[in-house]
Amino acid sequence: MKGRKLLMIPGPIEFEPEVLQALGMSTTSHVAPDFIEVFGNSLELMRKVWKSPKGQAFIVSGTGTLAMDMAAANLIEQGDRVLVISTGYFGKRFKDILDRYGANTTILEAPLGEVVPLEAIEKELKTGSFKALTITHVDTSTGILVDPKPIAKLAQKYNTLSILDGVCSVAGEEINQDEWGLDVVLTGSQKAIGVPPGLALLMASEKAMEVWKKRKTPVCNYYADWNNWLPIMTAYEERRPSYFGTPAVNLIVALETSLKIICKEGMDKRVKRHQLLAKAFRAGITALDLEILPKTKQIAANTLTAVYYPKGIDGAALLSKIASSDVIVAGGLLSEIKTSYFRIGHMGSVSSNDLLAVLGAIERALLELGQNIVSGNSLQAFQNELLRSN
Ligand SMILES: *Cc1c(COP(=O)(O)O)cnc(C)c1O
Repeated sequence: MKGRKLLMIPGPIEFEPEVLQALGMSTTSHVAPDFIEVFGNSLELMRKVWKSPKGQAFIVSGTGTLAMDMAAANLIEQGDRVLVISTGYFGKRFKDILDRYGANTTILEAPLGEVVPLEAIEKELKTGSFKALTITHVDTSTGILVDPKPIAKLAQKYNTLSILDGVCSVAGEEINQDEWGLDVVLTGSQKAIGVPPGLALLMASEKAMEVWKKRKTPVCNYYADWNNWLPIMTAYEERRPSYFGTPAVNLIVALETSLKIICKEGMDKRVKRHQLLAKAFRAGITALDLEILPKTKQIAANTLTAVYYPKGIDGAALLSKIASSDVIVAGGLLSEIKTSYFRIGHMGSVSSNDLLAVLGAIERALLELGQNIVSGNSLQAFQNELLRSN
């Protein structure tokens, strides 16, 4: 018994050994030539992962929420209208952040398990000048995937900035920032990017940077202000030393390592792997007579799956049984239904072996709790789906 645990929550995830090794190196100066090279490389590699050759990349210490805060603080001024398209908990968080900066927000909330129809978005945009709209690519509370492409197109039609919360999607779901015309795509290090928690990562379009430069009022957040960070990003990219706030040296070394692993696999292949494994995993879940939260497969995320507990099963007991198999999954997050579902993360380094272990643990736990299912069915469904797709 090695006492290994499999961490299958929607962030932090299982990290590649090379990434963890990079984290453990001797800390260097943030202006050492080697580190300047690592920082500069990381900014360049981000553009490949985001598919944003023209984007302005930011790497700042903080969590994904700081990246959301940074987008709002820099792009929004008092009274600006912002349309929030929400598919769960993190949509509402974006509204809270925007409201704090004095935005005049309108929130379009999708019914549980669904997405907001494009027509409803266009109807709102038609009513007047929205400075920006926000989209949660994958809402981690519901496992719902939103297609950002047509929404970004609508945003362009109505001269509105599009801001994508990609915390649970960047480096896992398909993103093509420049081609789709997304103005901001942001994430945190601990999700599909595959680096321990602590980095806020953001890519801004040329248009977003123009809008920021033309602000009439100062940014109401000292730490998040791009006036402080843009010269730092420019300096690292030009391989010059600079300082505003001490960067998280070890985390950035780990980030470069992970971005290299991601680019070596290639984003297209990586997205395919996520799609394939997610599809097979859903087949396994369905074979256990379990129901997933998204109402259709087309809007089910490829980075995590949200699953309802079966009738008559105590959720806490199920999670504790799964944990006793050394598989860690997450409980519910959306307050209205928090105790009626659980979530499994499958992003980043995830493999078919991991998901077989998860299905095995869930299946065994259900059988132990007296659920009337056939042992092995979910594993068979998973295998068949993978074989079919190969
Ligand atoms: C995790 C997550 C966040 C928040 O990120 P933190 O790093 O926890 O601050 C925001 N949005 C989405 C979609 C997320 O999955």
